[in-house]
Amino acid sequence: MQNALKGTSIIGNSRGAETGDTFHAFDPANGQPVEPAFHSVSVAGLNHAVDLANAARIQYGNLPGRERARFLRAIADNIEALGDTLLERASLETALPTTRFHGERARTCMQLRMFADLLDEGSWVDASIDHAIPDRQPVPKPDLRAMLRPLGPVAVFCASNFPLAYSVAGGDTASALASGCPVIVNGHTAHPGTAELVGIAIAEAARECDMPEGVFSLLFSSGYEVGQALVKHPAIKAVGFTGSRRGGRALMDIAAARPEPIPVYAEMSSVNPTFILPNAIRDRGESVVAGLYQAVTNGAGQFCTKPGLVFVPGDGPATKFAGQFKELMQQSNAAPLLTAGIQKSFSNGSEHRRGEVEHFTEHANNNLPGFSVNPSVFETTAIQYLNTPDLNEEIFGPTTLLIRSDSHDDLLKIANSLEGQLTASIHGTEQDLADYADLIRILENKAGRLIFNGFSTGVEVCPSMVHGGPYPATSDGRSTAVGTRAIRRFSRSICYQNFPDSALPEELKESNPLGIRRLVDGKLD
Ligand code: NAP
Repeated sequence: MQNALKGTSIIGNSRGAETGDTFHAFDPANGQPVEPAFHSVSVAGLNHAVDLANAARIQYGNLPGRERARFLRAIADNIEALGDTLLERASLETALPTTRFHGERARTCMQLRMFADLLDEGSWVDASIDHAIPDRQPVPKPDLRAMLRPLGPVAVFCASNFPLAYSVAGGDTASALASGCPVIVNGHTAHPGTAELVGIAIAEAARECDMPEGVFSLLFSSGYEVGQALVKHPAIKAVGFTGSRRGGRALMDIAAARPEPIPVYAEMSSVNPTFILPNAIRDRGESVVAGLYQAVTNGAGQFCTKPGLVFVPGDGPATKFAGQFKELMQQSNAAPLLTAGIQKSFSNGSEHRRGEVEHFTEHANNNLPGFSVNPSVFETTAIQYLNTPDLNEEIFGPTTLLIRSDSHDDLLKIANSLEGQLTASIHGTEQDLADYADLIRILENKAGRLIFNGFSTGVEVCPSMVHGGPYPATSDGRSTAVGTRAIRRFSRSICYQNFPDSALPEELKESNPLGIRRLVDGKLD
């Protein structure tokens, strides 16, 4: 496989021009630019990528699932074949260790293969058949058959903090390609080299598997214009986005203002409320402190699932617990954040919060190379929290807010005041779950995933995962960005009425040639 970076967009089977604006990735550890320069795609290049995707739409969307499965597996194989080159480039562009990218690459490839398995099995299309009843009175019942079909070309926006698992070949791309949608990726400016390597792996897999040209393109640009033009383009039928609330909201508004509005599946910010109940501190205080510290500092705290609000009792052993946690955070080394923009948001958010809460602890280190920041902990009371709505806001990076209270009522008031979240966690005993059932009922309405005696940062990839949640955690709390259910975001139900068997898709033919699970006259086949 050809690994040399060219710094140009990938537009179907060709490369974008080496003209126009350029930008560089940065090494967050020292703030220095990293070669090569990347060229912003031209308007003509963007339109060509969308035209190719639109032309590929029918052929790709009608391929048998096993052919799309072969394509997804070829992408995974090609990503693995990039070897250390990919891991080293991702590490250089993020200042995260290569060991982290061993895991993230494995997750990315597993995700692609998991969708391939789903396609091979075939039942994801949710086929249902209602046979005709010609002699029904007072009117005959027609033959009705429905299944999920792809939406059309999808624009995918990459995440800064997951250059592999939520970027060019990440969850949005895998689920959109699996459902039968061509994908155009808007590369993240923080890791363009990683993006190009993965983009080459996908483009080569498309050629190896004889996919129609335009099934995949990767666009680079230094500003927001290209991403916004993609969302506005009439041939784009859906958007997948992972990033900030501001960015996600801007794209939602653009998509809603189109003459033909389209869905935007935006995974945005979340503070992941974590309730540490007295019994958890009594029974397992040390391990909860260690777990919390890991969850807040791992990956320099740059996870959308980082616990950003932690409720801790006010008195007794909880004071020792809070003290141990603050000590660990104070001893923690400065950590480089992914971009200068994320560093600035962290500093501004922290500065603002220092004026709002009484207690602040941080690692006292003024030597902060590159995009580094000091890990920190804020601490406040339930009353102050309830009177200060800004404390609900995410600060992306290695920091969290402890909220101290002994009152069950305070916890309920606080839970009721929360915005939509990706996750909520409860640490305690099984009896606590019964005693705090009212809290759980509130949290079920606030979060996509409820966690008992664990931390929110790990997101397992499997059919039962829900990485979603009510707005503003995501743009649409009915869906998930992780796990096989994500395929539904890029498909819609189509009903065929009174079609002859010969003209029906394989999934709906009477003999069920694919042997998939179907709902036939209201009963599972
Ligand atoms: P970001 O600033 O929103 O950027 C994400 C991507 O969208 C980038 O490619 C960016 O372009 C583009 N973009 C942003 N605003 C845009 C606009 N108005 N128009 C067109 N394109 C726009 O987010 P980030 O700074 O990379 O990441 C940090 C944030 O992401 C945090 O808030 C974090 O919680 C969130 N996040 C959420 C999840 C999740 O699953 N919910 C996962 C990871 C991160 P450029 O490349 O040109 O900047």
